[in-house]
Amino acid sequence: MYVKELFVDNFRNLQKQKIEFCEGINIFYGLNAQGKSNLLESIRLLSMGRSFRGSKTTELIKFGEDYFYVKAIICQENNDKKIEFGYKKNENKVIKVNGNKIKSTSELLGQLLTVIFSPEDLNIIKEGPSHRRKYLDSCISVVEKNYLYNLMQYNKILMNRNKLLKSIKEGKSKSILEIFDDQLVEYGAKIIVMRQNYLKNVEINIKKFLLEISNETAEIVYLNSVGLKDASDEEIVKKRLKEKLSKNIDVDLRYFTTQVGPHREDFKIIINGYDSRVYSSQGQQRTAALCLKLSEFEILKKETSEKPVLLLDDVMSELDENRKKYVLERLKGFQTFITHTTKRDLKGDCYFKISNGVVIKE
Ligand code: ATP
Ligand code: MG
Repeated sequence: MYVKELFVDNFRNLQKQKIEFCEGINIFYGLNAQGKSNLLESIRLLSMGRSFRGSKTTELIKFGEDYFYVKAIICQENNDKKIEFGYKKNENKVIKVNGNKIKSTSELLGQLLTVIFSPEDLNIIKEGPSHRRKYLDSCISVVEKNYLYNLMQYNKILMNRNKLLKSIKEGKSKSILEIFDDQLVEYGAKIIVMRQNYLKNVEINIKKFLLEISNETAEIVYLNSVGLKDASDEEIVKKRLKEKLSKNIDVDLRYFTTQVGPHREDFKIIINGYDSRVYSSQGQQRTAALCLKLSEFEILKKETSEKPVLLLDDVMSELDENRKKYVLERLKGFQTFITHTTKRDLKGDCYFKISNGVVIKE
């Protein structure tokens, strides 16, 4: 698939405009703070339903305005598909696919497949477990249809269970806890199995990329909440999770929080035998992040049998010549959007200059 055209109105600093793209490499160049990342953000919004920079939807509205609207025409197997995203302050967002309003973000996922590469990818390696969980959840929710639903249900039950822990402390009977635990185990096990399967796939890919790029070995270790080396059997996972919940009940009651479950999980990327988060150099971590993203792209391609669109925000300036060449070679044949401060050193199929929110095709 590829993005044929984009229309933006009141989105960040971008001027109201329609932009037509080409099917290959689209280069967006311009000085700092002109709107390059904003443009990629608007495309990614239509793909995932939220900002890749973690901004709230209301922050995407142009300063001083009270709504924004973004629309794209996507070409998929010679058919055009229209995706729209509108948001007015203090109202619900409206997302439409081919004119039909969709009810939840999970219905949007898969309509426009994208992979975004940005300097912030480094945070997936460097930061705490919640960053990795969030990343993992967003990747799996695109390739596994029920993942987001299971996760939302799990989080709802978890919140209610934690509330119940507090009421038990205040004298309410413990008996109802069993019902919550059964539900938590039901959804939790599904999430764990899907994470395990996804991470197995990541490992296969990341091993290959890291070896090719820097001749290093890679392993992925899934730190699942059931303490299993391989957590891909749902029945076994269910049993273990239930046991763990029962075992931890006294601690849970003391802190009013649930100590075990997918909400506490993490995964490690081991490079040359050492945890990359703790022992790798900045350059090694950057390469690991890049390989992780390339793996995401490979899995997305394979699982959907579709051609995802690639968004490369400011990553070219951070890569050395060999890595740059490697990445461009791997992404050949896919529609790619690259932002850069200059037009020099980058070969594209079409070029756009961005200045003060205005995008001009050359
Ligand atoms: P760099 O090369 O530094 O990454 P960029 O071209 O990617 O720059 P953007 O991140 O797209 O820059 O931001 C462009 C401008 O948009 C910034 O000056 C920013 O302050 C502005 N901006 C951000 N949010 C809004 C908003 N809601 N309304 C108007 N302008 C905004
Ligand atoms: Mg930028």
